[in-house]
Amino acid sequence: MGSLYIHIPFCQCRCAYCDFFSTTQHQLKDAYVQAVCAELAMRKDQLPTPFIETIYLGGGTPSTLSIAQLEQIFEQIAKHYNLSTLRECTIECNPDDITPQYLSGIKQTPINRISMGVQSFNDAELKLINRRHNATQAIKAVELITQGGIENCTIDLIYGLPNQTMKTWQNNLQTALSLPIKHLSAYHLTYEEGTAMYKLKDMAVSEEISCLFFDTLLSTTTQKGMHAYEISNFAYPGYQSQHNSRYWQQKPYLGIGAGAHSYNGFNKRSWNIADLTQYLNGINQNSRKFEVEYLTDNDVYNELVMTSLRTKEGVALSKLKGKYLPYFLKQAQKHLKNGTLILTDTHCCCTPKSWFISDGIICDLMV
Ligand code: SF4
Repeated sequence: MGSLYIHIPFCQCRCAYCDFFSTTQHQLKDAYVQAVCAELAMRKDQLPTPFIETIYLGGGTPSTLSIAQLEQIFEQIAKHYNLSTLRECTIECNPDDITPQYLSGIKQTPINRISMGVQSFNDAELKLINRRHNATQAIKAVELITQGGIENCTIDLIYGLPNQTMKTWQNNLQTALSLPIKHLSAYHLTYEEGTAMYKLKDMAVSEEISCLFFDTLLSTTTQKGMHAYEISNFAYPGYQSQHNSRYWQQKPYLGIGAGAHSYNGFNKRSWNIADLTQYLNGINQNSRKFEVEYLTDNDVYNELVMTSLRTKEGVALSKLKGKYLPYFLKQAQKHLKNGTLILTDTHCCCTPKSWFISDGIICDLMV
């Protein structure tokens, strides 16, 4: 089965830490939705199967689209794909877009999961990173989502912010876990060049503090009954993200929209141009602007190690073909001896505690 990712690049304003492709040219939304529909038709045979398991509308801020625009996209998807196998359909939303009317519109579409970028429940932290909402709005939005009948709600938090203390981080986690969410994604702040946050990079928290924040994240989510299934992702039983899990299992997906990436599940990645005008012109002239990369066997091995070791299952040994299995086991020896890696008959994985230092382990295992 396949997955669809639809990129909706519109945002009301730029968050200080964000380097995703997004734009504030809202007057182009109608033209963009039409282009997305045209691209869906143009590329309808590019997945190995018409049966779709997951759809993810990411951004940008997909909740800046109207219900009519969302319906237009889903009508087009239904024309070209078989949705009888659809298990999960996620839309990313901003808290201040969530209203009872919007939710009742969403309920008329295949969407059954909402991912909300909350980032913090501390108003000073929200202001620092230039989020549009405040903590009260975020709490209200989660409540509205569940009252509106969409029980599968996940939120994003950021940790390691300048001046963030253990107390404010614990408070963010406690507030998040007191809400009726099913899943939590928590990412350490990275200072990306070109973002407003980059100017504050000298205020980055120390590695020691980062480790303590991560330990607190692990222990607090575990105490609440969530399980850590990836370095940044925590879920109550049965609520792991199906869509993201497919990325980590190297399954095929088709990315539609400006800047969207696709993967054939084997050795080919491609990505649309991350420029709104050029994307629209390309689609309108029936000459989509994109780039392609063919992966070598070494690339495939490196990607497998990099993504799998950040998941609870770890690397499936059956996926390491030919020379790669003995190479992997040789490189893993040091980490198996010191207990940061665990080897079973079928898999090799990090312990959750060693996830935070997994970059170093992954480096040792790569070719
Ligand atoms: S809303 Fe999301 S995509 Fe848009 S600027 Fe903020 S973090 Fe980036």
